[in-house]
Amino acid sequence: MQDHHVVVVGGGFGGVQCANDLKGAPVRITMIDRRNHHLFQPLLYQVATTLLATSEIAWPIRNFFRDRPEVTTLLAEVIGVDSAAHEVLLKNGQKISYDTLVLATGATHAYFGHDEWEPVAPGLKTLEDATTIRRRLLLAFEQAELETDPAVREALLTFVIVGAGPTGVELAGIISELARTTLPREFRNIDTRKAKILLVEAGPRVLPAFAQELSDYAQKELELLGVEVRFGKPVTSCSTEGVTIGDSFVPCRTIVWAAGVEASPAAKWLGIPADRAGRAIVDKDLRAPGQDDIFIIGDTAAVMRDDGSPVPGIAPAAKQQGAYVARVIKAKLAGKAAAGPFHYRHQGSLATIGKSAAIIDFGWLKLKGWLAWWVWGLAHIYFLIGVRWRIAVAWSWLWIYISRQHSARLITQRESIREE
Ligand SMILES: Cc1cc2nc3c(=O)[nH]c(=O)nc-3n(C[C@H](O)[C@H](O)[C@H](O)COP(=O)(O)OP(=O)(O)OC[C@H]3O[C@@H](n4cnc5c(N)ncnc54)[C@H](O)[C@@H]3O)c2cc1C
Repeated sequence: MQDHHVVVVGGGFGGVQCANDLKGAPVRITMIDRRNHHLFQPLLYQVATTLLATSEIAWPIRNFFRDRPEVTTLLAEVIGVDSAAHEVLLKNGQKISYDTLVLATGATHAYFGHDEWEPVAPGLKTLEDATTIRRRLLLAFEQAELETDPAVREALLTFVIVGAGPTGVELAGIISELARTTLPREFRNIDTRKAKILLVEAGPRVLPAFAQELSDYAQKELELLGVEVRFGKPVTSCSTEGVTIGDSFVPCRTIVWAAGVEASPAAKWLGIPADRAGRAIVDKDLRAPGQDDIFIIGDTAAVMRDDGSPVPGIAPAAKQQGAYVARVIKAKLAGKAAAGPFHYRHQGSLATIGKSAAIIDFGWLKLKGWLAWWVWGLAHIYFLIGVRWRIAVAWSWLWIYISRQHSARLITQRESIREE
């Protein structure tokens, strides 16, 4: 057993990469996560929209480390850090001491001061969120089939997605395809093709992080899929009856929140400065300011690129940071010189619109249409963990293309807010 104890909090992209890259180092590692699974968040929207099953995009964290006796995995929630005592505080009252601490606890969606909207407008961050959204989508169609009042039926068949970043665009495109191609033959009293899919964006365009021409293309593709995009007005209220956009009320029963990001409270745990989204402002080597033995990585850290722009909150950035911190720890333990500051390498931005179009911005090359979709699909299959899951997802996608049927359409949990 090694003496130096590295505690990694968060088994997401950053934390797992760090633990993986510490393989062979003279350390013992404790990996703590409040969920028992690592989640491939980029495909969460496919669970929410019935394309994939939960088990196709999430894997037990302890299974990753089954052949690494130096790694202990704990299912526990961290609620604080006592940096003076070198201890991580768990919700159950236990304390875990560390020599080096890596905080990789990610981020969640933000409601801009309106957390009361969350029950009616769930965001998409966890498997539970995805299955909640899936259940609400499917129940809306089921209830519309039973409903005799045309106004209520119309509200049931109106789906509002708030925020036109990649997640909002992906959700809107697939919900529209579900209503227009998969469901019509299965319902008798309603025409699911008449479902209204409304994508609401307070800014002037969809996918604002992409070049204007790609954003214009994405909007055109969404409209071809039957999605109505509304720009320039924020959502000002959400309720079980509908949503208010600016000052106009839209009756609807299903709202999905895809706007805003709020980092996990790692900065608060340490009492260090954070940016507006709550991300801890870290040193150039990803250390918490003034803390030689605490690193903060991924979505919970505010890291700047060499040109002063922020490193984006995406999976490759978290993985690069996890790999970098592992190098720093190894160098330190080997008595070698520090690794120098962290440099982020942007590999490109990708987003899909429905099941056959995507946009990709590599900087030096911009792609759109079906070719971009294939690149997007292959990239995602490549980054999935394990051959078995790559084959499973590839097969699920192939089947959807051949049959045009979404297979993961089971309603498995009851939910009082909608069903009573
Ligand atoms: C819907 C959606 C779609 C996305 N699509 C893309 C995409 O297409 N491409 C892309 O590159 N990126 C995408 N992202 C962003 C990407 O998933 C994140 O940037 C990435 O997951 C960040 O990695 P991380 O390690 O910082 O955090 P995460 O991967 O979020 O992992 C954080 C981990 O910490 C755990 N945790 C949190 N708090 C605690 C606590 N208090 N105690 C114990 N454990 C805790 C969580 O359970 C989680 O396992 C998407 C994100 C979402 C939500």
